[in-house]
Amino acid sequence: MTKWVYLYNQVSEVEKLAGGSWDGVKAIVGGKGAGLLDMTRAKVPVPPFFTITTEACTAYQKAGKFPQGMWEQTLKALRNIEKAAGQKFGDPKNPLLVSCRSGAKFSMPGMMDTILNLGLTDAVAEGMIRAAKNERFVWDSYRRLVEMFGTVVMGIPDEKFEHPLDKYKRKKGYKLDIEMRAEDWKEMVGIYKEAYHSSCGQIFPQDPYKQLSLATEAVFKSWNGKRAVDYRRKEGIPDTLGTAVNICTMVFGNMGDDSATGVAFTRNPSTGEKKMMGEYLLNAQGEDVVAGIRNADPVENLKRHMPDAYKQFMAITARLEKHYADMQDVEFTIERGKLWMLQTRVGKRTAKAAVKIAVDMANEGLISRDQAVRRVTPEQVDALLHPQFDDEAMIKAEKEGKFLAKGVNASPGAAVGQIYFDADKAEEYAKEHKQDTIMVRPFTKPDDVHGMIASKGVLTSEGGATSHAAVVARQFGIPCVVGASAIKIDLEKRSMTVGGMTLKEGDWVSVDGTTGKVFAGKIPTAEPSLEEQKELMTLLKWADEVCARKNIRAALAKGYPTRGLQVWTNADYPKDARRARSYGAVGIGLCRTEHMFFEPERLPIVQRMILAETSEARTEALNLLLPHQRKDFDGLFEAMDGCPVIIRLIDPPLHEFMPDEEKLFEEVVTMRVQGQTEGLADKEKLLAAIKSLHESNPMMGLRGVRLSISMPEIVEMQVRAIFEAAADCALRGIKVKPEIMIPLTGTVKELEWIQPRLERIGKAVMQEKKVKFAYKFGTMIEIPRAAVTAAEVAAQAQFFSFGTNDLTQMTFGYSRDDAERNFLITYQEQGILEKNPFQTIDRDGVGALMKNAILDGRRTRPELEVGICGEHGGDPDSIEWCHIIGNDYVSCSPFRVPIARLAAAHAALKYKPVKPARKPGKARKKAKK
Ligand code: PEP
Ligand code: MG
Repeated sequence: MTKWVYLYNQVSEVEKLAGGSWDGVKAIVGGKGAGLLDMTRAKVPVPPFFTITTEACTAYQKAGKFPQGMWEQTLKALRNIEKAAGQKFGDPKNPLLVSCRSGAKFSMPGMMDTILNLGLTDAVAEGMIRAAKNERFVWDSYRRLVEMFGTVVMGIPDEKFEHPLDKYKRKKGYKLDIEMRAEDWKEMVGIYKEAYHSSCGQIFPQDPYKQLSLATEAVFKSWNGKRAVDYRRKEGIPDTLGTAVNICTMVFGNMGDDSATGVAFTRNPSTGEKKMMGEYLLNAQGEDVVAGIRNADPVENLKRHMPDAYKQFMAITARLEKHYADMQDVEFTIERGKLWMLQTRVGKRTAKAAVKIAVDMANEGLISRDQAVRRVTPEQVDALLHPQFDDEAMIKAEKEGKFLAKGVNASPGAAVGQIYFDADKAEEYAKEHKQDTIMVRPFTKPDDVHGMIASKGVLTSEGGATSHAAVVARQFGIPCVVGASAIKIDLEKRSMTVGGMTLKEGDWVSVDGTTGKVFAGKIPTAEPSLEEQKELMTLLKWADEVCARKNIRAALAKGYPTRGLQVWTNADYPKDARRARSYGAVGIGLCRTEHMFFEPERLPIVQRMILAETSEARTEALNLLLPHQRKDFDGLFEAMDGCPVIIRLIDPPLHEFMPDEEKLFEEVVTMRVQGQTEGLADKEKLLAAIKSLHESNPMMGLRGVRLSISMPEIVEMQVRAIFEAAADCALRGIKVKPEIMIPLTGTVKELEWIQPRLERIGKAVMQEKKVKFAYKFGTMIEIPRAAVTAAEVAAQAQFFSFGTNDLTQMTFGYSRDDAERNFLITYQEQGILEKNPFQTIDRDGVGALMKNAILDGRRTRPELEVGICGEHGGDPDSIEWCHIIGNDYVSCSPFRVPIARLAAAHAALKYKPVKPARKPGKARKKAKK
């Protein structure tokens, strides 16, 4: 018989089943269940509980009912915890109440359902009042059960309960729930039961077992609820995992002023500061804190309120953090002075906090540097390099009276957008109208997640740093300010008011999740500086050290690198090169020289060169361009002193340098009609030339090496400019390492035709300038034929650089300029393509071509240098592939360099060769010595 249920003291059994893997334990009993089991084993005070496995959930999803034997096992486990708690489920004299809480393998905070106080019925309530003599607590607990059960199990809208409560409090003149007395809650129980009945046509169940089975079913069902599904899509969590259900003995934080409930993080999840950050509420139950319904007290205050419990809490959480070697997110309840831990899990954190915590923990010796590197994702590094509000612009906005309010800085970053007051609208305007939206709510609930994800920022007027809005925003890296209580939101009028200012839906605001400030209107943002982010710099340095380690990579064959990937950059101008270098790039992998041709003072010369009818006229124009190019290259070599610089010779088709044909045509026609003759002939000539250059699919046309062979003067000038600049720099003491890259090779014959001519120019310049330096000639691999014939191509080329933009285009036969807007989205939606192949390398097709090309190329030339310079060079998944197939480096845009450094280290650590186990015989011999 399958075992569907595990008791609080059965951790070893689960571990055995999981083959000793903790990850396996989490897969079986969920993250929350695993944490509870582990805490129980460590003798942390956890109320007795049992867990129904994720497998039971999966079986339920398939069959639509509990799997055979599950309910019997549940009842048996219930008997067991009754014994441990000394109470009996459904027994009015001494009742056991339980909670029913979801818990998947990967934590999905707030995405699934929880029901507390199960087991309370009319009879049990009366019995408890007699026994506990705390009437207020009993009726408060009961009304919570009716509400939670009604909304979660029966799907009754929250308002059906919230509105009557608001009305009741208004009638009584109460502001807060805490003012409600026993008789008030008793009356509310009646009102809630009535609301329950009128909403779903059923009587609130008076059979505790029915409550328990329906609640368990509801938790199973919540796995497939919209918000859980949306969350999994965003986080890439497989739908097949299922959630476990934890049935736990209730302990009560609402038993009076010696009781409390709270949530806390062992370090600040927003900044990473090594300081407990949490909140608690006296005389309340768990969900009140998370929902941000009442403003909670900071956890430090507990020191005054309940010093013993506080001391114990600090000791336990310190122990837990050490045990898991990571920041913990804990839930606790104090029942009449006794502390109970209800949950511990690795806490979600902002990108900033992730970096600080990883570096601090490595420095504290809690984890290794490699672990620290692994703890931060490339996406988090990306988030840290996102814009922040410009300081001066904020001061100016304040002076101009645009400051609206200050709330809690729950998730850092700058967001500018148009406000919408509900999740659906925020999502609709973001997705369908392509607006930058800011979702504004008094507080958020799990149903709002889709609107938050679609928005640039989130703003709430209630709730604290551990409220739902804060936790979710942090997790997704969405800038968020919560609890900006000066803002009064009117959901009916769809407006918000601060002081005398009213903003309506669609108005612009700027939300600063870093400082907690909110402004009306748009505030300009500024790029963050990497240099100022000390911990990130340290982490990236550790990442580089991982990649520089010898034998971190197994060499696939002769010539393959055994260190990790280097990160180079795609940069066309010295200022970009300098920025990339400061971001940690150690080479230029692609300088697209034609970008320099577009500068305003050069374009007319380029056009003249293109229109030249004789070789002399062309050379004349090129001679004018040469000093410009030399200067460009000089700047690059200087910026990259000591690093390789790959300069690609001209690539695009010539018509790209010409004026727009349609516009010119219109001008010519207008001049003709109006009888204007002055300048008409020139324009007509230009139009004819453009027409002759026209190609129906220019991306496959006269470009790259084909253009160079048709018009060698251009690249001859470029190579002269490169070598002259390199020579000048070398004479100034700069260490130059030029590499000349020929684009779009399809056959080695093209290289055989062009390369020797260019090499001759290079040598001639070195002789003229009386200076020598090392250089390379290589090619881009952008055409499948070049990849397939790589063994031949490598005979000529000293390096390969995969131009994966073109290689993807030509391998798939998709136009890179049109596919994304035309059909790629449909292809992804229909599951024909899993990912956009222009963003992430298609390993099976394009990736396989690359892999074989490297193998074949290095067979011909073991020292062949291999890189990538297509957009994929900055994509973590593609970087991992480049590591696997034996690239020497990846090259990406300057802003992605830090991300790529971390991704390269991740790949190196993930695929680190396992050291062969020492032969037992040898070990013994050594031991004898
Ligand atoms: C490429 O094709 O991947 C590449 C880097 O060249 P471009 O994008 O300039 O065609
Ligand atoms: Mg290309």
